[in-house]
Amino acid sequence: MDFSISENTKNTLLAVLQSGRLAHTVIIESDDEKTRRDAALFLCAYAVCREDHRPCMRCAACHKALSLIHPDVYVPELSGKLRQINMETSREIGRQASIIPNEANTRVFLFFDADKTIPPITQNAMLKLIEEPPQSILFVFTVKKSSALLSTVRSRAQLITLKGEEGVDDFARQTADEIIQGIVSLYEADLLKALTPLSVKDNKEKFAPTMLCLTESLRLALGFLCGVDTEDENALLLSKKLQKDEILKMLEITDDAVRKSQTNINMTLLTTWLSSQYRRILWQK
Ligand SMILES: [Zn+2]
Repeated sequence: MDFSISENTKNTLLAVLQSGRLAHTVIIESDDEKTRRDAALFLCAYAVCREDHRPCMRCAACHKALSLIHPDVYVPELSGKLRQINMETSREIGRQASIIPNEANTRVFLFFDADKTIPPITQNAMLKLIEEPPQSILFVFTVKKSSALLSTVRSRAQLITLKGEEGVDDFARQTADEIIQGIVSLYEADLLKALTPLSVKDNKEKFAPTMLCLTESLRLALGFLCGVDTEDENALLLSKKLQKDEILKMLEITDDAVRKSQTNINMTLLTTWLSSQYRRILWQK
């Protein structure tokens, strides 16, 4: 079992899990192959662990999940020269998805490197399953770039973008800090100004990492309002300005904006849209 997870990755995932916002279908995106694989295994352990603080990483279920030998963890077979999931296997996935969990409360389907292993025709065939999954199912796709998946698949899934080992990009961190200052500011113009660097076409690639930084602070702020302590200054600032339902709305809008940024949307339009959505939550109470 070759499993290890950085504190950063673990905290990002725990923030999603503790906010109770884990969807039935999750896309884990990271440049780093091991980061995305181990993040998927972590979610897998979470889904099958039956201890109080999931994943405990100590019980038999967690160990079996991390070694991919848990009876409720399904990794589809790859076939052919291209090592892909063919149509026959996609039908088998449908059959497997109708089986009730055996030992755990959830059955987990893991699709490693889905951008390479699931050809578009098979992604298409799996759409209905992803859209209306049977109860107690978790689908996890790992990808280098989520934009390599069909947009119809992406729009039905929760995207979790993780950094590789190189840590958070300075631009992303700094811009996210300024956006947070803009959110807590009394002046609407501060928020618009903070979003401006993201309207530049050359910074399009930085949009998702920036939003990830912002999302992390929003999730920590939400946790703080629910009684989970944090030392993150941004989160503490946000928790003073926003109420729980407002944070949830901001998280939704931010997720939405990340999805939009991965289409060929005009970045000025996107940042204008984003600031108007945030303003609606913040100033038109
Ligand atoms: Zn466990």
